[in-house]
Amino acid sequence: MRIQPWNLVFLIGLIIYLGIRYFFARQTRGNEKAVSRKGWDGILMAIVSVGTLLLPALYLFTPWLAFADYRLPAWAPWCGAVMMCFAIWLFWRSHADLGRNWSVTLEVRKDHQLISHGVYRSIRHPMYAAIWLISIAQALLLQNWLAGWSALVTFGLMYFVRISREERMMCEVFGEEYRLYMRQTGRIFPRFR
Ligand code: SAH
Repeated sequence: MRIQPWNLVFLIGLIIYLGIRYFFARQTRGNEKAVSRKGWDGILMAIVSVGTLLLPALYLFTPWLAFADYRLPAWAPWCGAVMMCFAIWLFWRSHADLGRNWSVTLEVRKDHQLISHGVYRSIRHPMYAAIWLISIAQALLLQNWLAGWSALVTFGLMYFVRISREERMMCEVFGEEYRLYMRQTGRIFPRFR
């Protein structure tokens, strides 16, 4: 393994991220679904896993990607570390605020509640905002063209395919309540009322 401090910061962040996801996935396991719009979600999530898990693991634990290494200025990984800490906090808070209403694919459960408090008060998609930040942090912490940028490219693809479908589904289910919520919030940048 390439035991460099910035690689370790990334690895610890990734482990905490996976731990949070695992914890909340267990809590929502028994949810009964009322609406399901999975579409291409399975394929997209497999592509995202390559960018967020497989390529970083190959970079950290094998020499195979060394040909694509490069050096960033000294301040860059510091920014990445700060961004990673904030993103992990935001990711945890969005899971905690969504509670049992979370699902990994586009689904609405029975008795689903529209959440508009906590980190959902000013942003509609704080969890995706957190994953954008983690992906940027990855690019700043792993100094490799493939392992560093792969999360931004793969998550970016998933985000742009998914975001309008998710909002359309929420509008269909919650109607005017969600449309009003959309007017009061920003997609991934906060809109303060
Ligand atoms: N897009 C949100 C949630 C991602 S999880 C975010 O980035 O924070 C995806 C699931 O969350 C969707 O299937 C939908 O059922 C649910 N969801 C999204 N926004 C919600 C909200 N404001 N309240 C309740 N559930 C929501």
